[in-house]
Amino acid sequence: MRRLAALLPVLLLSGCGNDPAGVLSPTPSGLSATVLESGAVHLSWNQCPDPDFESYTLWRSGTPGIADNPSLATAVFSGMDVLSMVFTDSTASPGQYSYYVLETRNTSGLKAWSNEVTVFVPDPDPVLTVFFIDPTWGSLSGDAILVRTPGGGNYLIDGGSSVPQWSCGTDVIIPLLDSLGVSHLDGIVATHPHSDHIGGLVDVLGTVTVDTVWDCGWPGEASDLYEQFLDEVDACGARYVVARRGMTLDWGQDLTVRVLHPASNLGSGSMNNASIVLMVSFGDVNVLLAGDLETAGGEESVMSAFSPFELRASVLKVGHHGSSDATGYPWLEAVQPQIGVIEVGAGNPYGHPHPELLNRLSTSGTAVYRTDLNGTVRIETDGQTVNVFP
Ligand SMILES: [Zn+2]
Repeated sequence: MRRLAALLPVLLLSGCGNDPAGVLSPTPSGLSATVLESGAVHLSWNQCPDPDFESYTLWRSGTPGIADNPSLATAVFSGMDVLSMVFTDSTASPGQYSYYVLETRNTSGLKAWSNEVTVFVPDPDPVLTVFFIDPTWGSLSGDAILVRTPGGGNYLIDGGSSVPQWSCGTDVIIPLLDSLGVSHLDGIVATHPHSDHIGGLVDVLGTVTVDTVWDCGWPGEASDLYEQFLDEVDACGARYVVARRGMTLDWGQDLTVRVLHPASNLGSGSMNNASIVLMVSFGDVNVLLAGDLETAGGEESVMSAFSPFELRASVLKVGHHGSSDATGYPWLEAVQPQIGVIEVGAGNPYGHPHPELLNRLSTSGTAVYRTDLNGTVRIETDGQTVNVFP
């Protein structure tokens, strides 16, 4: 018995570390890490075998040597369940190295560090994302499109309608921006001053900061709403630019954004035909945003200024909410869209989208997505292929 008692402290000491006072430190765990395809980091470690286990804390830092300088690190996980031995960190910064160490604590307040592991999280492939936002509320319709550029910019094209009880800006666009963590817009495009396009923009301008507002500069009689919109642009301090055919908008180096319409002379045509029409190009993929452009005087004007090759686009925002007076056969023959998205309210009183227009799209072999049936439609492209998420 005397011999066993003498051996016991030696056995315990060989299993674990201890501090100078003879209290045992925790057994350190072995830590390993792999980077998943999503860019998240999967970490796993050995179970602590000590009966006085208290907690695990997983630390991450952008610099090595966490155990020597823990104040530079961030705790990404902590838990008191000894069987919690995996964690997936989805907040590691892409394009740089991340270092991880697991700290194990025991009930005596002592701690042990695991080995330090290093991973490199690659930059995600650049993607252009376009949200065709559902403008539906009661009998209201409209256009509202959010473009997220491969470089991380956010641009809003039109803002749907707004009435005292409801606003596409306050009730739809702002919650979408919140869900994306966006509190600043690099730009807003008001295609033309109809209420189903600028109504919600007034509320957006009063809520988030905006760098630049592009407007068609309608020269005719202005509605109270248009005056209010221009006042709001002025008050928010955004740069105000009148967009004209031939301009190229600087939305980042990965993207080319050309103004196809309106021409310098807006003339006395319909306000729909004053719509700003944009061709957004990323890699091999073109997205044509046609506002409320009508065939007569609108599409005709664009086709007289550009070759069919210059108008070709994989994705077409179908003009004027799917009205039969827009998106004629010559336009479809020039653009040759694979995907057509119709921005239209489900309860609109105009019968949009019109059957004649749907027939033209079908005859042209265009796959059609409609906000009145699909809700908000999101497209994503890497510049090669286009994915649609209705
Ligand atoms: Zn409209």
